[in-house]
Amino acid sequence: MVFAICHVAPAQAADVDVDNIRLWAAPDHVRVVFDLSDEVDSSVFKLDDPRRLVVDLKDTQLAFDPDGVDPEDSAIEALRTGRRNGDDLRVVFDLNRKIEPHHFLLPPTDQYGYRLVVDLDYPGEGALDEPVDPIAAMIRDQEMDAERELRQAEAEGASPSAALAKRDSQAKPHPKRDIIVAVDPGHGGEDPGAIGPSGTYEKDVVLAIARKVKAYISATSGFKAFLTRDSDYYVGLRKRTLLAREQKADFFVSVHADAVKSRGPTGSSVYALSKNGATSESARWLAESENRSDLIGGVDGNLDLSDKDEVLRGVLLDLTMTATMNESLSTGGQVLDKLGRINRLHRSQVEQAGFVVLKSPDIPSLLIETGFISNPGEEKKLRSSAFQEKIADAIGDGIIAHFRRHPPPSSLLAWQRDQGRGEGPDEYRVQKGDTLSQVAARHDVTMLALKQANDLSGDILRVGQVLKIPHS
Ligand SMILES: [Zn+2]
Repeated sequence: MVFAICHVAPAQAADVDVDNIRLWAAPDHVRVVFDLSDEVDSSVFKLDDPRRLVVDLKDTQLAFDPDGVDPEDSAIEALRTGRRNGDDLRVVFDLNRKIEPHHFLLPPTDQYGYRLVVDLDYPGEGALDEPVDPIAAMIRDQEMDAERELRQAEAEGASPSAALAKRDSQAKPHPKRDIIVAVDPGHGGEDPGAIGPSGTYEKDVVLAIARKVKAYISATSGFKAFLTRDSDYYVGLRKRTLLAREQKADFFVSVHADAVKSRGPTGSSVYALSKNGATSESARWLAESENRSDLIGGVDGNLDLSDKDEVLRGVLLDLTMTATMNESLSTGGQVLDKLGRINRLHRSQVEQAGFVVLKSPDIPSLLIETGFISNPGEEKKLRSSAFQEKIADAIGDGIIAHFRRHPPPSSLLAWQRDQGRGEGPDEYRVQKGDTLSQVAARHDVTMLALKQANDLSGDILRVGQVLKIPHS
């Protein structure tokens, strides 16, 4: 920096030390964290030709050697530092692509002091390495829309059959779509999660298990899973549920490992969201400690936290949440049953508490505490690939078992189930060209009765779908 060289600085020590600069690379951004001895006045701005990002810190000096900072596979090529106005520090990042910077200061926590967090977002880049097939997502979206419309009609007091009569469309080809499962490894990057007695980080163990859950589910015909993070960086709690929504997930499962002060407790537990407070004191304590993640990891600076879904409000929200919660609890029971066959259960029932990460109104969600990382024996098990595999298969099996019982209408699983049916006197296999009103009239039942008998949430019929005919 030319001006830094020309300026003659008074020999006065700066107030704030930069003790370290750490870097976490994600697919759509890189997060740079300055560890500081105190609060700091900062300014962050971009320069072009060549592309650079400048971070100016007032009354600050470097207290470590920045040569060791590894820019990994990120937008940052290199970093340089220089003095400015005598007491100020300037850090310049040379960039290899277009970025949009955001920055915020985090207050001290148990693990860290003051931190300046600078996120370099990559415009146009997705947050996932492997997004879900857009066609599968679109079909699932239509299904969710239909469901939402129906609930809205119910909430507004309109007759669902009247709402349906307006859109009595012809049976559509069966899409035989995959059921989409979002697998969420807890913590990451700045936020190590719980730390075991021999130094194992929860964020590492749960990433390894989540990868195995994803592989197990995706290897099952009719299912596709994706990870909310597939590397060591932090994802804000609301961003995790947002990613599940964007990818049109049918199910969301967050993978964690428990810790308490005492080394005694062991075993797995399964949690669903509670609307009215935690089922037990320890469940509330756990939810509070997991929800602290955003304070440690740092929320996504660029994420709008306001609820965009104006429509999901009031009565409607309540109806949706209740249905979602029941589905979560039923799946949780399946997962708990499978986990109980391979590990001790810390809680023999699905517990409920106010985890932020479970607050999707319309995606059934679970949080799994795989085991106690604070127990030396279980910490060792959680590190072993064989045990991780067992846990992962149990989680996968529980979710798969739930969807085999209750496959969404447009899924391959629903189509497969219907192949062996449709010949009985009280059944009808949907043909090309059929509409719901025609099928109802032909069997002398009302559309509403037909819908209720088949638990049809939308108005879409699928060719090959088998309908139960209620007795009129
Ligand atoms: Zn956790």
